[in-house]
Parts: sequence; structure tokens; C-alpha cells
Amino acid sequence: MSITSYNPADPADLVVAVEAPGAEAVRAAVGRARAAQGGWLAAGAGARSAALGRIAEAVEAHAEELAALIVREVGKPLAEARGEVARTAAIWRYYAQAPYEPSGAVHETAAGPGLLLTRRRPYGVAGLIAPWNFPLAIPSWKAAPALAVGNTAVLKPAPEATACALRLAELVSSASLPEDVFRVVPGGAEEGAALVDAADVVSFTGSTGVGRAVVRAATGRGVPVQAELGGLNAALVLPDADVELAAGHIAAAIAGYAGQKCTATSRVIAVGAAYRPLREALVKALAAVDDSACGPVVNAAARERMVGAVSSAVEAGASVLVGGGVPERAGWYVEPTLLAEVPARHPLAREEFFGPVAVLHAAADLDEAIALANDTPHSLATSVHTRSLDAALAAADRLDAGMIRVNAPSSGVDFHLPFGGTKGASHGEREQGRAALEFYTVSRTVSVLPGGEL
Ligand code: NAD
Repeated sequence: MSITSYNPADPADLVVAVEAPGAEAVRAAVGRARAAQGGWLAAGAGARSAALGRIAEAVEAHAEELAALIVREVGKPLAEARGEVARTAAIWRYYAQAPYEPSGAVHETAAGPGLLLTRRRPYGVAGLIAPWNFPLAIPSWKAAPALAVGNTAVLKPAPEATACALRLAELVSSASLPEDVFRVVPGGAEEGAALVDAADVVSFTGSTGVGRAVVRAATGRGVPVQAELGGLNAALVLPDADVELAAGHIAAAIAGYAGQKCTATSRVIAVGAAYRPLREALVKALAAVDDSACGPVVNAAARERMVGAVSSAVEAGASVLVGGGVPERAGWYVEPTLLAEVPARHPLAREEFFGPVAVLHAAADLDEAIALANDTPHSLATSVHTRSLDAALAAADRLDAGMIRVNAPSSGVDFHLPFGGTKGASHGEREQGRAALEFYTVSRTVSVLPGGEL
């Protein structure tokens, strides 16, 4: 079987085709990574820091080429692709400082002389499984902290992002990392499952169904696992908000990169008198979104799923306020779409569709809006648009989301802060920031007592 990826804007353009390496190749890569891990850890903080810094430089030196590859392979608009490349370099540079961070603490003994220490140590081989939507940033925000603290890593990218991952592997190797410290093994479910079966610590980002199976398999082996899964993100707009500003933010969060960010907004909740002006402003803002911000969805199946969901919602009584169709052109494009009166139990109101489609709801007051926003099994990011400090504080207290963003689009991530969702959107420790350094290490308690009379 071969692994292929096609250009979403031009489906005749085959970006890459490689033979699926199979489960045995994954086990072999993990074995080699395990053999290399001791040397990588023993090389010390200085060597690891320098190596990660060189990776940042290599990414920066190839920024335009990488941005063009992201555009071609996953259909990301150029400005966002450039942003992803810059963020990728920043992630490697940020974690290049991590090897010098303290790795534990000193405690007093309960009685008598001696030292009690905690010390965080790497697990061994980190198995990293990534989705296609951030083809450089997600592999990097997994690999960089794992490597910084002395693990080696094997990455299994999504098939749709194979070329980007292979190019990242080349750049890492051009930064003179010892062989087998970081390996990319392309593949699909078979290779992913084999990696979960062989690695010493597992980090997964992707859809909820696959992620749950990965969590079960890893915990079944007693191996630590984190999983960042699908989200259903809401935007709350209060009557005192600057409606034009809010509509601009929300349109960007619905349609930017065709809604294919795990933090994209798919439910808009207008409170009281905000409903009418917001509806108007949002329709206008979404109608004005063009290819330079939206782009195609990743493949034909994603587009069919979305178009099918919109027409079934309309059959169930929903109305299309803007979009709803498929433009007459090559490529897997979907019009930025906003629907109202979608029945509460319709899949469009309950499930992640990963496209430029959102549902508009009305809420009588902030309490109802918060209850609506929280009524989802998987919540990653919620935005709140208001000029009232009290409303912002109430929302920050009571919204059940991993990220609460006041007067900003739901779709924005800071790589130096912890990142993850609540309820079914996330399992295990947070990614990114310093939280990732904790995840890729285990604490040891060391007691050092005198060997004789002091
Ligand atoms: P996906 O679940 O289809 O695939 C994710 C990865 O898992 C791929 O590498 C895939 O090959 C691999 N995989 C498939 N079956 C497997 C198995 N049985 N065992 C192990 N690995 C297996 O997701 P996708 O379509 O690539 O990405 C889109 C999804 O990712 C969306 O649901 C989106 O919300 C989610 N996502 C979440 C975040 C987040 O941080 N919460 C970030 C980006 C994307």
C-alpha cells in the first residue's frame, strides 16, 4: 500500500507517494531510537540546546520553501503558512533553552544530615502521532520538548502531510543531530498503532475516535499518553461588544484556513440585543472572506461530509444565512457558511466538522449563553466578545474550556503557554509551554545520606 498526499487546491497534483513502511519498520525505528537515547541524554544540556537551536536556524533558512510546501500539501493560505513556519522556528528556539532549566528540587531530610532531591528524567523513546492541519508546528511542538529533556523521538505524521514531515526530518538531520535521535516514519493507522505499541511515552493529536483508541492502547501498556482531540468551540457575543470588531474576529475563526483548526469557531452565541446586528455583520464579514484567508478543505470526503451536513440541517428546518454551496472550480473548496435555527440535536450543532461552517444561536442572557457554550462533550477554546469586565470575569470563571479568549478569535495559540481542552477534547497533561517538559519526563526521588560518621 502506498501513502499519498494531494494538493487540496489542485487535486490532480500528487505531492508525494511513498510505500507504507509497515508495522515492522516502526518497531525497528523505535529500537534504533532507543539505542540512541542514552548517548543523546549523556551528551548533556549544552549539546541538546545547541542542536535544537540549529534546527530553528535551519527552519528559518528555508522559510519560504517550507511555506510553499505547506500551501501545496495541505492548502493552507500563504500568510498562515508563513506564520506557521515562523512559529515552528520559534518553538525550536524556545525549547532550545529548556535543557538548561532546573530538573528538580532539593528538600530537607526529616531528620539527620543528607540531601533529598527530585529529578526529572526522560522516558526513552517518545512516539509522536500528528494530524495534517499544522504539518510543521504540531510535530515540532511535540518533538522539541521531548528531545530537549533527553528523549529520542519517532514521528508518525498524517498521510496528508507526509511531504512536510519528511522535509522537517531532512532539516533536523541537516542540523547534525546524532542519527536515530529523531525519525519520521510515514504511514497510516497500521504504523500509528505500531508506534503506540512500541514507544515509551505517547503524544497524539487528531480526531476523537482515533485518539480514544490510542489512549486505551497506551494505558493498557502502562505507558504515559497525552491526546489532544477534536473540539467544538463557541464564540459568545454580548450586547455591549463592538459588533464589527467581534464579527471580524469570529469570521476569521470560522473561515480562516477553511475552519480546519482545532480551535476554529463552529458555534456563535449572540446574547440578547446582540443577535440582529451580529447576524448582519457576520454575514457581511463571511461573504467578504476570500481564498487568501479561507482556502480549500483537505480532501473530497471532508467536503462531501460538510455539504451533506448543511443540506440535512436545512431539511431539518435550518436556514442558510450565507454560503452553503460549493464554488464552481477545481479544488476542494466550500463557501464560508453560517446557519441559523439548526435543531439543537443536529450533528452540525453537536459535532466537529472541521470546515468553514458555523451555527448561530440566540441566548437571552449571559447565563444562558454560558450554559449553551458548556453544553458540549468536547470544548477546547471559547471566545467572549464584550467591553464589560464583569462579563469577561464571569465567563473566565464559568466557561468549561481549555482556553478562554476575551476579545480575540477562538483560533489562536501561544506556544509558550499550556495548550489543551476540557472534557472529551483532551486526555492527560497539557502540551506546549513548560507543561510539555513535565509530560516528557518522570520524577525520581533521590536520597543522598552520609556513608559514615560526618
Ligand atoms: P486523524 O485522527 O484522522 O489522524 C491523526 C493521526 O492518527 C494521523 O497521523 C493518523 O494517520 C493516525 N492514526 C489513524 N489511525 C490510527 C490508529 N489506529 N492508531 C494510531 N494512529 C492512528 O486526524 P486528522 O484528520 O489527521 O486531523 C484532524 C483532527 O485533528 C480534527 O479532529 C482536529 O480537531 C484534531 N486536531 C486537534 C488538535 C488539538 O490540539 N486539540 C490540533 C489539531 C488537530
